[in-house]
Amino acid sequence: MAKNQKLKIIPLGGLNEIGKNMTAFEFGGDIIVLDCGLAFPDDDMPGIDMVIPDISYLIKNQSKVKAIVLTHGHEDHIGAIPYFLKELNIPIFGSRLTMGLVELKLKEHNLLSKTKLHRVRAGDIVKIGSGFRVEFIRTNHSIPDAMALAIHTPIGTVVHTGDFKVDCTPIEGQMIDLAKFGDLGKQGVLALMSESTNVERPGYTMSESTVGNSFDDLFRNHGDQRIIVATFASNVHRVQQIINSAYRFGRKVAFSGRSMESVAEVAMLLGYMTVPENVIISIDEIKKYRPNQLVIITTGSQGEAMSALTRMAFSDHKKVEINRGDLVIISATPIPGNEKPISNVINELFKKGAEVVYRSLENIHVSGHACQEELKIILSLTKPKYFIPVHGEFRHLRQHALLAEKMGIPSKNIIVGDVGKVIELGPNSCKLNGTVPSGIVLVDGLGVGDVGNIVLRDRKHLAEDGIIVVVVTMSKKDGSILSGPDVISRGFVYVRESEDLMDEAKAIARESLERAVSKNHNDWATLKNGLKSSLSDFLYTKTKRKPMVLPVIMEV
Ligand SMILES: [Zn+2]
Ligand SMILES: [Zn+2]
Repeated sequence: MAKNQKLKIIPLGGLNEIGKNMTAFEFGGDIIVLDCGLAFPDDDMPGIDMVIPDISYLIKNQSKVKAIVLTHGHEDHIGAIPYFLKELNIPIFGSRLTMGLVELKLKEHNLLSKTKLHRVRAGDIVKIGSGFRVEFIRTNHSIPDAMALAIHTPIGTVVHTGDFKVDCTPIEGQMIDLAKFGDLGKQGVLALMSESTNVERPGYTMSESTVGNSFDDLFRNHGDQRIIVATFASNVHRVQQIINSAYRFGRKVAFSGRSMESVAEVAMLLGYMTVPENVIISIDEIKKYRPNQLVIITTGSQGEAMSALTRMAFSDHKKVEINRGDLVIISATPIPGNEKPISNVINELFKKGAEVVYRSLENIHVSGHACQEELKIILSLTKPKYFIPVHGEFRHLRQHALLAEKMGIPSKNIIVGDVGKVIELGPNSCKLNGTVPSGIVLVDGLGVGDVGNIVLRDRKHLAEDGIIVVVVTMSKKDGSILSGPDVISRGFVYVRESEDLMDEAKAIARESLERAVSKNHNDWATLKNGLKSSLSDFLYTKTKRKPMVLPVIMEV
């Protein structure tokens, strides 16, 4: 293999933003895709359920794209897989739990039988295409079975950490394979790509096991209350510890929320969670037990609108009602952007008389991401020639770059990249060179893609000013008005309080139609445009608002 060949690293998501992590590695005639995640929509995207990376570059080069390799099973790393596979059906490699979670998704989208899934273990090396050998390395994170990847190519090795922390006392499984990082460092690491989420925090991230003691204390001190704990469904070790405390204090556990039930099922089936017999009960059975015999583990730690905890808080849950005296523990920190919804949920729970424990009060949550000292350990073990911080907003990437500089990596060897900007790596060079199409694709329900700017603009318009529908029936023969016009308003003004306005609007609509017909302008487009503009002008003069005006003309 020619030494002058270059490895292209193409970030398609996850840089200068939170979420939708995806990076393409291109060497010779092969491309592999590392992670395939989604992001949650901003407030200014009404009706959008999720945001996924633009993969048009991969579609254009589809004959080269050989496989997806996964670091772990979080949504920001696997959430876009079903949408990706609808465009490019390629094999996927990942650890057992990661693949168990991918399977759940593929089932939902009817893609399971069409997709080749390869389960790997820490230490496995898989050959992909003619240029890549991908090695899976055990790490610790807030989901079990997380991996870092060493991507071996003829011009050198790139180590990608995935999301990680260094946990010397993990709940299940083993500690991150630091020795492996050291070996790779000795053999020579051309570039290190390391996650930056917690780079602003000094010191070390606490071990997951510390949370267990806090749960025990809470269970001990609230022995006569019902306990409801909200956490991430994918945080299997957290759920395990809640179950352990419940068992120690003689309580039954019920799961609430679809993802909580399905992830727990996969985790138990694959042996990542061990539950003593007769502890788990169905949510339908909670009525059979007294409050002090129960723990409900629920989704909704981020205040998600449709989640179980949010429904409980707003009395919209079919099976669980919040009662005075319930203890609700929120065992998570808000992802940036979710502070407001979670705060609404907490307020609502307090109003119902529940006692709420959340992050600022107790040690009921630890992060899954490395703090500064852990990031330094990885830098010092791998001793990379080039450094590329990933997984973070610009300020995180910048701080991580500064940290690496302090560790002795020359600033000219550090690249703070961006989505769509190609990083070109040679044995003795690393630089930004060129761009590929990149950006976001908006997903609305199970569909994908066609929610363009026009649809978003309409939704914003509707959300801000509402809609006026004008319905009229006209004669095909002479264009006379047979019934209507009726004016229906939604989200604009409350009709009963503004009957005068609506009556005037009807008159304006009738005038506009009759005027057009008298001038023989009776094609539909002209009639509709006339209606729209005369009504919009009228409503704006009266209310200073511009609702969407939607004329419906029926001809008989
Ligand atoms: Zn992540
Ligand atoms: Zn993660």
